[in-house]
Amino acid sequence: MTTRLIDGKAIAADVQARVGRGVSEWVAGHHRRPALVTILVGNDPASAIYVRKKHEACDAIGIESRPVHLPAATRAAELLAYIDACNADDTVDGILVQLPLPRHIDTSAVIERIRPDKDVDGFHPYNIGRLAQRIPVLRPCTPAGIMELLRHTGIDLHGRRACVVGASNHVGRPMAMELLLAGATVTVCHRFTQDLAHHVADAEIVVAAVGKPGLVKGEWLRAGAIVIDVGINRMPDGHLCGDVAYDPSSGKAAWITPVPGGVGPMTVAMLMHNTLEACRLRTMKAGSLA
Ligand code: NAP
Repeated sequence: MTTRLIDGKAIAADVQARVGRGVSEWVAGHHRRPALVTILVGNDPASAIYVRKKHEACDAIGIESRPVHLPAATRAAELLAYIDACNADDTVDGILVQLPLPRHIDTSAVIERIRPDKDVDGFHPYNIGRLAQRIPVLRPCTPAGIMELLRHTGIDLHGRRACVVGASNHVGRPMAMELLLAGATVTVCHRFTQDLAHHVADAEIVVAAVGKPGLVKGEWLRAGAIVIDVGINRMPDGHLCGDVAYDPSSGKAAWITPVPGGVGPMTVAMLMHNTLEACRLRTMKAGSLA
């Protein structure tokens, strides 16, 4: 079997172009441009790159982007007050606080402070809860982007066995809920899981989101598996690698995402989608209340 690469860059470009057309139509309908505020606290170089990519995407498709950079020593109360101001500002459609935050700030409290209808990362308990109850509104970007990637393989997910390796609030858990919503039978693995190899080998779809280079071994995969590698790990020599150690020449997997160029671009594309969606939904709600 030939292993095919899932070209996240190309698929993300399509999604972004579609959102860009949506923005143009929205503005042509005499609406204000959607606006995204990103809040970066501190000087983590990787976070700064991620935020820059998000703004570049906004600029490319006509979403107004407002980057806010706060010092690492920012007190939690100051950050919360800033979020309150964005919540109250009618010209702000999306609020994204770049994670991770400095250790002295409680991440959950910050996420919960963002208005759910401006929570374009989809991390607020309200939005996670909607997804859990099969009535999603603003979906967490990385899992939603992965669902787009899976759609491009042409696979019908109903009844398929999927294994999600990693159970974080932002990736693994909502990923499992997305797959469940799509009709897959889902196993979620975490640090206490016994015999990870067995769970991976049983799965037709494997999503690895741990942050440990090469944790999932290529030889564990079942023949014909679809493999989504979410991990982004910077190695000592500077190159990036994923959580899956797979040699495409083995031909075992049917599809795999590259790192970089797989899941990463989709996360940004879905953020653009969510920002336009948040703008539309809030505008329509305001109209119906008027
Ligand atoms: P995280 O918050 O550190 O969570 C890691 C998860 O992996 C936890 O649920 C942990 O289990 C689990 N885990 C740890 N060791 C394990 C093991 N030996 N076997 C199975 N599970 C294990 O990380 P994250 O935010 O989910 O991110 C995961 C990776 O994806 C990172 O490399 C990150 O950079 C990358 N990422 C990429 C994108 C993208 O757009 N491409 C977006 C987000 C994240 P416990 O819950 O039991 O602790």
